[in-house]
Amino acid sequence: MPRPTKPRWVEFLPSVTYFKPAGVPMAELEEVTLGVDEVEAIRLKDYLGLDQEECATRMNLAQSTFQRILTQARAKIASALVDGKALRIEGGNYLVSPFTFECKDCSYEWQNTGQHLDTPACPNCGGFNVEFFRKVPVSGGSLRHGRGRRRARHGRGKP
Ligand SMILES: [Zn+2]
Repeated sequence: MPRPTKPRWVEFLPSVTYFKPAGVPMAELEEVTLGVDEVEAIRLKDYLGLDQEECATRMNLAQSTFQRILTQARAKIASALVDGKALRIEGGNYLVSPFTFECKDCSYEWQNTGQHLDTPACPNCGGFNVEFFRKVPVSGGSLRHGRGRRRARHGRGKP
């Protein structure tokens, strides 16, 4: 019996979620579905070119689990390309990574809102001198981007 998996952390929610081959009638079209977590694995490893350890840490996964997701995602994309299938991005077991932002101009702090992580403008002063860091420590300590204060442990909000 498969164990329930813990959510994979993603930092990116794709805005385009359907890719269709040209010239194939809908009736003949087969489809593969990639989860948002699988797209994140591809993005970190193949698009950003990060090493596997960094990828696994950013998705809050063991390296072996990350490798499995990546392999599965690549196989699906290969199947779409070779067999001419449509590709749908949908579902997956994921959470948007918990990040805290801090404005270096006015010291305002806020958390991500569940949207993908671009460098946001400060909601307080509108400045772009913003740094972000993980609020929730992952195994091996919290992964911080830039400087940031370590905060008390916190729940991720109420369900
Ligand atoms: Zn500010």
